Amino acid sequence: MKNIALIGEIHSDGIDVLKNNQCKVIDLNNTSEEKFKEILKNVDGIVVRTANLNAELLKKCPSLKIIARHGVGYDNIDINFLNNNGIALAITGTANAVSVSEHVITMFLYLCKLINKSDLLVRKGRFIEKKFLPDFFEIFEKNILILGFGRIGKTLAKRCLGFDSKVYVYDPYVDTSVIKEHNCESIDLISGLKIADFITVHMPLNKETKNMISKDQFSLMKKTCIVVNTARGGIINEKDLVWALTNKEIYGAGLDVYEKEPPDKSNSLFGLDNIVLSPHNAALTLECRKRMSVESCENIVFYLNDRSKLNIANIVNAKKISLEV
Ligand code: NAD
Repeated sequence: MKNIALIGEIHSDGIDVLKNNQCKVIDLNNTSEEKFKEILKNVDGIVVRTANLNAELLKKCPSLKIIARHGVGYDNIDINFLNNNGIALAITGTANAVSVSEHVITMFLYLCKLINKSDLLVRKGRFIEKKFLPDFFEIFEKNILILGFGRIGKTLAKRCLGFDSKVYVYDPYVDTSVIKEHNCESIDLISGLKIADFITVHMPLNKETKNMISKDQFSLMKKTCIVVNTARGGIINEKDLVWALTNKEIYGAGLDVYEKEPPDKSNSLFGLDNIVLSPHNAALTLECRKRMSVESCENIVFYLNDRSKLNIANIVNAKKISLEV
């Protein structure tokens, strides 16, 4: 029997996977700090959502062999500690790309069709004032710029092409032939920012990408451009985004992620009517939660019990471990 701790709520389908594979599931949600630390001493695996697993906490888990992230980002986990201690990290690589892509398309359409302003007119009995709405747009035959062409970028591209849009990709780490294979066109960042009608961000937050979209980049964009970030807060500089939206440097923006989560109540973005916001839930559709729950728990089971079945694409860090696959 292996001891698997759950940190963060997950769908019951994943818990069944663990229970059906000789794992004892220990739910650490709502556990006192003292008990939490005591239990960690004997865990073989952890399924975690967004809780911070820093070195101090990980030191308390001498038996730990694998952490399975329910999701793909792992900026909440001390990777150096895992590398130095031969602990594997699995992610739910493919589980959330569709859900996030649909979220992006939803934000694109919501913004370009002025759904919020139209909705308000009807509710406030101002139906006939529709002629006073600013111009709004189609997505058909527009230029869509995808920044970051990984799992989500590729999944989204397919859906954008379905609108008969032209899809441009900026990702210096992906071969142009791969971009071409997906019927998209590779472009440099500056040219892309200039021609895009829609821009969407799908890369990790790191030193290179922090504040990648700031005042200078907004200044290059079309006044009718719509910018969406469902990747990580901080890739778009929020202060500069407020500036761009307030001064109508761009048409609209959609955010699922923020520099600080949750954002402060006083966040200047909240006062703007050309932005749509969601609480980092692009990947939280029921279908996606089920997939992430099952995939993260399967990663634990495969890793601990039967590595021949391991989906190696999900193991992003196991430097000191021979995966034997
Ligand atoms: P991925 O690792 O499959 O792809 C990331 C891509 O970004 C890679 O192709 C990489 O080459 C590219 N990239 C890295 N640095 C770059 C740079 N400087 N310029 C351009 N491209 C660069 O990741 P993914 O699964 O597609 O996820 C993308 C982002 O979405 C991540 O930040 C992830 O944390 C986030 N995410 C958010 C949610 C949500 O709920 N909002 C859900 C899933 C993922």
